[in-house]
Order: sequence, then structure tokens, then C-alpha cells
Amino acid sequence: MAVAGGKIDYQGGRWIVPDHPIIPFIEGDGTGADIWRASQRVFDAAVAKAFGGKRSIVWKEVLAGEKAFKATGNWLPDETLAVIREHRVAIKGPLTTPVGGGMRSLNVALRQILDLYACIRPVRWFAGVPAPVREPQKLDVVIFRENIEDVYAGIEFEAGSEKADKLRDFLIDQLGVKTLRQGSAIGIKPMSKFGSQRLVAKAIQYAIDHQRPSITLVHKGNIQKFTEGAFRDWGYQLAKERFGGQTIPEADAGSGTREAGRVLIKDRIADAMFQQVLLRPDEYSVIATSNLNGDYLSDACAAQVGGLGMAPGANVGDGYAVFEATHGTAPKYAGQDKVNPGSVILSGVMMFEEIGWSAAGKAIIAGIEGALAAKKVTYDLARQMPGATEVPTSTFADAIIAHLK
Ligand code: NAP
Repeated sequence: MAVAGGKIDYQGGRWIVPDHPIIPFIEGDGTGADIWRASQRVFDAAVAKAFGGKRSIVWKEVLAGEKAFKATGNWLPDETLAVIREHRVAIKGPLTTPVGGGMRSLNVALRQILDLYACIRPVRWFAGVPAPVREPQKLDVVIFRENIEDVYAGIEFEAGSEKADKLRDFLIDQLGVKTLRQGSAIGIKPMSKFGSQRLVAKAIQYAIDHQRPSITLVHKGNIQKFTEGAFRDWGYQLAKERFGGQTIPEADAGSGTREAGRVLIKDRIADAMFQQVLLRPDEYSVIATSNLNGDYLSDACAAQVGGLGMAPGANVGDGYAVFEATHGTAPKYAGQDKVNPGSVILSGVMMFEEIGWSAAGKAIIAGIEGALAAKKVTYDLARQMPGATEVPTSTFADAIIAHLK
């Protein structure tokens, strides 16, 4: 008999999750249907395994992308946004970005409407996955990237446009800017104390909740003092004022490790950080950074562990969260039951952790590790893993389910 399901709520900074929460999902375009079918089976089996039938998810499909366009003539129906807002937590596969203007991007719409200010990307290695570095197991970071400000604010003016020229004149005449070549394109990089601190607060809270040893504020403050440099300063200030008893700045800590149960707060300049994650990856745990730095750093870290195709992501605000695959729709493989569902499955692990159902997430991680150890993997992994058997998306999901613990 179908379970009725209840709505997830959010009060006092905590999720309130019924035993049978309704969770909206967007299947995704291209290979999305294959991936979603496999992922949903893994999620349901993991919840059943972890909670012995006491809990289950009531999935609610909402439309976006090509499927929405075919059914409603609209790429992003208002109803989809309303349902996600009503149920607070949602998960999505990849969506086609239609070529040509006049259409809202789902990610941008959700980010703005639900104020999803933290883009969270955990990056870790799974044994057996081919990686370009010698010791991929040493990298295990969770990157919190600011999701609303900085370059994502999208304030820029085209070279040679009237607005760019006006702005240039204003900067030179009114603000004392000395060199700014005529005809330049101009972009503006806004970063606020409010926006920076709430992102850092989320990262610190995560480190505390998950017993992570440190947080690193990654910035380019040596060059951009009032934006990137301020991000660092506001981060330290927030850590001291709001989490003083639970954190300790690197300058005050002796050995550079988690001191007396307190989370170490350190900072690194962005270019040095790209070296550090390669040379001394095990010194980093949770990373909090501004938008553009985080964009580069999360893909670089994912590549380092060989996991770009399996990298999960989440966009999270206060009381709203949307989990997603980070790859695209891989349209040439659509309907072939071929591609790797790992990215959506691991974003489901993040979802379970976020709503406090960590046991289901842990079961899935064990399942993935088991499937990889059995070397029954999709084509993308099989082509790089000696001795592996290539299996379809659905069979990879079966192997994960068989190894749930
Ligand atoms: P893509 O769909 O990510 O595919 C590029 C290549 O990455 C694929 O050809 C495949 O490589 C590999 N790949 C991607 N997903 C895979 C998976 N699940 N398993 C195994 N291999 C996978 O990128 P794209 O071709 O640039 O973009 C296609 C469409 O997706 C575009 O409309 C784009 O706008 C959209 N997109 C959406 C999102 C999103 O919704 N989050 C993100 C990025 C792109 P091989 O062929 O070498 O095996």
C-alpha cells in the first residue's frame, strides 16, 4: 500500500524530517532517465536496509528541461519551483541547456528563489578508481563555495557599450581610478560581509557536526584586499565571535592539528592552495571559499581523485537544499543504460546526511566501495580499470545494492 508521506520542515536551524518524507525529483534530460531509474532503486534499498522498513521516501516527480517542455510547452514550469519550495529538499539529474535566449536556467532560478547560498562539493577517492596522482586517498575535502555573490552576481558590461564607457568615466572622474583602457569590458565583483559570513558559518557548523579537524578559508586577498581579503577577515571574525569555544585560529594553535577538540581555522591564498591540495592534501579538510575560487578548486580536486564523472554537489540555503549531478546530460548515450549513475547516487548520500539519515548514506558508500572492489563498473570506469567488467547503469546499481551495508 502506498504511504501518504509528509513534508520536511525546518525550524531553529534544524531539519524536521518525518519518517516518510515527500521528496521532489527532476529526472533530468538525455541520460537522466537511465541514471534516475538506477539511483532511485539504490536510494530506496539503502533506506530500507538502514531503517528496516520504518522509514521510506515518497518520491514526487516534478518537471524541468526537455520533459517539461514536451509536456507543458515550458522549460521550467512555475509549479516545479512551487513544489520544491513547499517540500524544501529536492534532487535533480542533469538538464539540457537550450541554445538561444529567453529561457530561465533552473539552477539560477532555484538559487535565487530559495537563496541557496552554499554550493557544497565533497571530494574523496574511492578505492579502485583510476586517478592521476600517486596517493589519491590523501585528498578528502568538503568544499563550501559561496553561490550568490562574486562573479555569480553577473554584473558586467560589454566592451564598447555605452554603460561600460559611462562606468569607466565615473571610475576615472569620481573615484580616482588611474588606468582603465578605453573600450574595456568591465565586470564587478561584489562580496558582502553578510554573504561571506553565512557561508563560512555553514562550513564551520559542518566541520563541528562531522568532527572534521580544520577549515581553510581560500582567498586571493593578497591582490584583492577589499573583496577576497575581507572574505578572509570576516571568516576569522565570524569564527571567533560565533564559534569561539569550538574553533581556534592557526596562529594561536601549536601543532597545526585539531587542538583539544577545536576546529582549526586557517587560510591560504588561492594559487598556493592549488599547490597544497596536490602536495599536502591530507592537511586540508573543509574548505570555505568565494565563488570563482571555488568553481576552479572543486573541479581541480575532483579531477585529482579521478572522480569528475562521479562528483556530487548540493546547493544549500537555510531550510532549502537541492542536490544534483555535476556532469551534464551526456546526450549521445541517452536511453542506452550505459552511463555512470555515481554522481546522482553520491548526491543522494549528501541528501541523506543533510536530513540526518546518515545511516542510509553510509550504506550507499559501502555499496559503491563493494561494487568498485568487485570491478563491476560502467564503461567510463571500466575503460581505465585493469580487469574490470563493463556493466550497464542498471547492473552497476544492482552491484551497489548487493553490497549495501
Ligand atoms: P556532459 O553531458 O557532462 O558530457 C561530456 C562527457 O562527459 C560525456 O560525453 C562523457 O564522456 C562524460 N560523462 C558525462 N556524464 C557521464 C556519466 N554519468 N557517466 C559517464 N560519463 C559521463 O557535458 P556536455 O556534453 O558538455 O553537455 C551536454 C548537455 O548537458 C548540455 O546541454 C549542457 O548544457 C548540459 N549540462 C548540464 C549540467 C547540469 O544540469 N548540472 C551540467 C553540465 C552540462 P565520454 O563520451 O568521453 O565517455
